[in-house]
Amino acid sequence: MNKPVLTIVVPCYNEEDVFMETSTQLSHVLEMLIADSLISRESKLLFVDDGSKDRTWELIESESGHNSFVKGLKLAKNVGHQNALMAGLETAAKKSDCVISIDADLQDDISVIQAFLEKYWEGYDIVYGVRESRKTDTFFKRTTAVGFYRFMERIGIKLVPNHADFRLMSKRALEELFKFKETNLFLRGLVPLVGFSSAKVYYDRKERFAGESKYPLKKMLAFAFDGISSFSVAPIRFVTFIGFLAMFISILAGVYALIQDLLGHTVSGWTSLVISIWFVGGLQLLGLGIIGEYIGKIYFEVKKRPRYAIERDSFSVSQTNQQIKEAIGH
Ligand code: UDP
Ligand code: MG
Repeated sequence: MNKPVLTIVVPCYNEEDVFMETSTQLSHVLEMLIADSLISRESKLLFVDDGSKDRTWELIESESGHNSFVKGLKLAKNVGHQNALMAGLETAAKKSDCVISIDADLQDDISVIQAFLEKYWEGYDIVYGVRESRKTDTFFKRTTAVGFYRFMERIGIKLVPNHADFRLMSKRALEELFKFKETNLFLRGLVPLVGFSSAKVYYDRKERFAGESKYPLKKMLAFAFDGISSFSVAPIRFVTFIGFLAMFISILAGVYALIQDLLGHTVSGWTSLVISIWFVGGLQLLGLGIIGEYIGKIYFEVKKRPRYAIERDSFSVSQTNQQIKEAIGH
């Protein structure tokens, strides 16, 4: 195998406090990997400036003048972590054999990048960085994260627990990822859908060494909800279920009201009112649920996700050989 060209993609939003340190440390990692003959000399760092309002882009630009590893990609406006990362991956994939994504704050342990590359050499197409401990996270972030992964698993969404966007992907895995055309990106949910062989590398998550988290609670909740609604129609099913339940209760309530009526225990008009309230309410919820089911289907269609990924194909190969033979007249 030839030495692979590696590109490390780093999305940056208002990261002027951390940029220089990150760039220095990652350059050092590349040098070590080149010295160990794990990657090609053509390997690069690609910093994606996600519409920062501070001096991040100026720093990237000036650093790219001194450090031949450093390249920059500037986005026209802030599009959020996931989209910025995607922009970086698509740009990087054109000139790389494999791409690693990592956050600019170096909370993820860069010393395991070597292990990522070793897995790549063993033939894995995707290598997930998985947090071993969350000691440095707050109690709140830790418990919400654990709850989130449990919930996602319950409603049938496959995620790699404790894996954020620190991973290596081969060129062919990336090319399959690019076929997912959805606008609401949740990369850590999409990558497992790509398939191919994958490995995990464990590490300890550190504290942000400068600057502050760009994920306040509100963004975190929005991110979690995106993750759920992009991969599952379970919430819509739940509405349908409530509708059925209401209908069922309305039948029971109807029987009860009729009995009360026959026994003469009721004020006139009560029975018909109670029955219609329950029945109409149940019917409405049921209707909403069914319409929701269809919207859910349309929703998945509109995404135009690819239906399969080809890993090997002997059929097309032999067919092309046949075509070549025909073309040269044998
Ligand atoms: N980021 C980005 N665009 C945004 C928000 C964040 O590119 O709109 C980047 C940010 O610069 C960092 C990464 O996404 O490299 C993760 O952000 P952060 O470290 O703030 O998230 P946390 O680690 O707290 O979840
Ligand atoms: Mg961070």
